[in-house]
Amino acid sequence: MTYREKCDAKLERVQERQDAGLISQRFPEVSSIVVDMEHNRKGISTVHLLRTLTFSSGSHAYFRVECLNRDCKDCTDGFHLDQVVAAMIRNRTSSKEGELNCEGNGITSRSVNISYKVTIQYNEFPAAVGA
Ligand SMILES: [Zn+2]
Repeated sequence: MTYREKCDAKLERVQERQDAGLISQRFPEVSSIVVDMEHNRKGISTVHLLRTLTFSSGSHAYFRVECLNRDCKDCTDGFHLDQVVAAMIRNRTSSKEGELNCEGNGITSRSVNISYKVTIQYNEFPAAVGA
């Protein structure tokens, strides 16, 4: 990837984030979303990272997590949790755990395992079912 392409990709991502809209608009029943991530990188040096992402109703409905492998060719884009979050909201699930894996397809990258836990707080008022 050239420098120029990288810049374009970054701009595109900013645009995508704008396009995603606000959580309050897309998911008015949601009061907050917390994503706890645990990165485990195996290899010569084991890297163990904890990261918490918090989204409020004023945040963009854009749930993307960057890959720990900086030169990874597979996920320059990061991991998308949009589908996971959308499905949870549809079913009014309050918490869900899962795993993501990256093969680490780069020069210095290693296999990365990410366990995540998504916790969603809903507003008190009942959602309009089937409206
Ligand atoms: Zn990756």
